Amino acid sequence: MSKNKSSESVKVVVRCRPLNRKEESSGPVGGIVQMDLRLGQVILRNPRASPSEPQKTFTFDAVYDANSKQRDLYDESVRPLIDSVLAGFNGTIFAYGQTGTGKTYTMQGAWLDPEKRGVIPNAFDHIFTHISRSQSDKQYLVRASYLEIYREEIRDLLDPNHSTAKGLDLRENPETGVYVPDLTSCVCKSIKEIEEVMNVGNQARAVGATDMNEHSSRSHALFLITVECSQPGPDGRKHIRVGRLNLVDLAGSERQAKTGVHGERLKEAAKINLSLSALGNVISALADGRSGHVPYRDSKLTRLLQDSLGGNAKTVMVATLGPAPAHYDETLTTLRYANRAKNIQNQPKVNEDPKDALLREFQKEIARLKAQLNHRRWRSKQKKEQVDGEDWGRDSDEEMEDEEEVVETETEEYLKLEEQRLEREEEAITEDQFLLAEEKQKLLGDLRKEQEAAEQLTAKYKAMESKLLVGGKNIIDHTNEQQKMLEVKRQEIAEQTRKEREIQQQMLVQDEETLELRETFTSLQQEVEAKTKKLKKLYSKLQCIKAEIKDMNDEHVGSRQELEQTQNELTRELKFKYLIIENFIPPEEKNKIMNRLTFDPEEDQWNFQPLVPAQSKFSQMKKRPASAVGYKRPISQFARVAIAMGAHSRYRAENIMFLELDMCPPNPSPLDCSVEADPNQTPSLENSPTRNRDIHKSSSWCQSQKSITTSSSNNSLAACPAAASAQ
Ligand code: ADP
Ligand code: MG
Repeated sequence: MSKNKSSESVKVVVRCRPLNRKEESSGPVGGIVQMDLRLGQVILRNPRASPSEPQKTFTFDAVYDANSKQRDLYDESVRPLIDSVLAGFNGTIFAYGQTGTGKTYTMQGAWLDPEKRGVIPNAFDHIFTHISRSQSDKQYLVRASYLEIYREEIRDLLDPNHSTAKGLDLRENPETGVYVPDLTSCVCKSIKEIEEVMNVGNQARAVGATDMNEHSSRSHALFLITVECSQPGPDGRKHIRVGRLNLVDLAGSERQAKTGVHGERLKEAAKINLSLSALGNVISALADGRSGHVPYRDSKLTRLLQDSLGGNAKTVMVATLGPAPAHYDETLTTLRYANRAKNIQNQPKVNEDPKDALLREFQKEIARLKAQLNHRRWRSKQKKEQVDGEDWGRDSDEEMEDEEEVVETETEEYLKLEEQRLEREEEAITEDQFLLAEEKQKLLGDLRKEQEAAEQLTAKYKAMESKLLVGGKNIIDHTNEQQKMLEVKRQEIAEQTRKEREIQQQMLVQDEETLELRETFTSLQQEVEAKTKKLKKLYSKLQCIKAEIKDMNDEHVGSRQELEQTQNELTRELKFKYLIIENFIPPEEKNKIMNRLTFDPEEDQWNFQPLVPAQSKFSQMKKRPASAVGYKRPISQFARVAIAMGAHSRYRAENIMFLELDMCPPNPSPLDCSVEADPNQTPSLENSPTRNRDIHKSSSWCQSQKSITTSSSNNSLAACPAAASAQ
């Protein structure tokens, strides 16, 4: 499968934007970044240092100063990468730098101004122009996806509900690497269509920017293009190559800790910038080459870029700088990162005939529809022959000829023929005096249905086929030969510039190495001069290295202090939580809770185990309690025996008497029956049976039949009609 197993390093280019109006007005000193375009060097001046202190010099694959054009950067540094993607390699371009230094400008630019179009629109042009100019035996399928990583969550920017949807997951496949399973992917047939996809995604991002504070500078945007190309190989079979291109616009690289936030805000900021610090750690680990473990899993961004950094991909990193003296520290950090990234080695290889190629599925589907269409034609021919042997005998000859043609050209003719045939058949049927009217109708209906089905099938076939782009056609090639020549020349120039720069850099290295070899002096004076010169050169080099060591030390101390501060804050918070737990939560409850907790390393958080295992929850809920087998609800042993015994008097619940409470007022002397009750005081008791002399006998169950009926309630009277009538 692999065509090219050799490794190559990540290409790093640096771009410095011009001073903006605010920076120009605030300081007379000008920029701190100087560039040697010929040698590919960046010279950084420390505005706070004394003039005698040596300036810092970094060498890169290419550098672009404030006057550089978008087109130059594309032709020199990006075009070769896109060509590789079209040949079936994976490719990544990512812009890294402080906020406001031109990452978005470099990646997207101003779309409407041809001079200011960035890497992404130029890549669109490049891909579709390449397809339109390629040979006609090649078939292409281009797909695009757009996602962003915000607060460690992956969001699909092409999904209309992305703002409310849950963050997407990441999966890993040994063949295709890390991917996002449910990401929307749009098939694009032209530059216009792919630009539309980009616009839709950008609008989704723009909405976020107004809703959320500083959203745009804190989310990473990835535009993914997959180019599948099918071409007949020497063995006569079609081979598919799949190139994947990641165009990445990162969030600003400035450290959140520097903005002076603490506590909760600090942690939140740490989460937002986690991806970038993880990216820095990955770059350091890879560039170092000694540490075996590369912390890709620390963030979503590094996992998505896993292949691009140290894996199967060709990668270009564009580090963007601002020239303002106020941002010296950030600029230096960016340059250091970029310098480190140069040492990362990738192992790009051509992705040939991968299992998941969509193009193959499309081709199969088209072949199936083609076969169906042919079969339908053959069937309708047979049918018509049955309807009218003579008339259709002539047409069958035509069809025999048709069948020799290629299906693509046939489909339209076939439709026309079908229509003509239908008309003729209609006429024939109407004219046929011997056919019954019903049969005629039926046949006509059948024929119509047949034609509708054929039309549907043809439409489906055409829609399917139109998704594939065939080399040399489909796209209107708007460039004439002259323009083509111009582009070729421009590419040649870019290539030459690149080579020249490489040679210059090599010469510089060799110069330093051969310094000692040129030791033939004619006079003592000359020797002294030469040695002084050499000494001076070496001395300045020593100073540079000393300054570098000092910077590194300072940086190290600074980051250690930051870490210590974060650690102190976290320890304080931990103590606070411990205090609450130890004093307010009973130990047995604490143990229960702790036993239920499990750590999820993927999500980096603690989770509660459910009390009832998820799968058995349902079955447990459905199970009836043992005490109630056969009954609607749990019942007592007594009630069960009562039911079993039937009408046994012992278990008859009715043998408990139902009596109403005595409503008489407490009598001071039960025997004093001569006391007259005040008739106005309790009129309701006037006719009450409580006026009965036997009223003091609370155990009225032993009363005579008469007294029972008089003291029972209306209910009991109703239940006993005989007693009621007696009253
Ligand atoms: P970032 O994406 O890094 O935060 P932007 O790309 O939004 O920064 O750039 C900030 C501003 O600087 C924009 O107004 C942009 O037009 C301008 N700018 C950036 N780079 C250049 C450049 N090379 N030439 C001219 N203007 C630039
Ligand atoms: Mg930006």
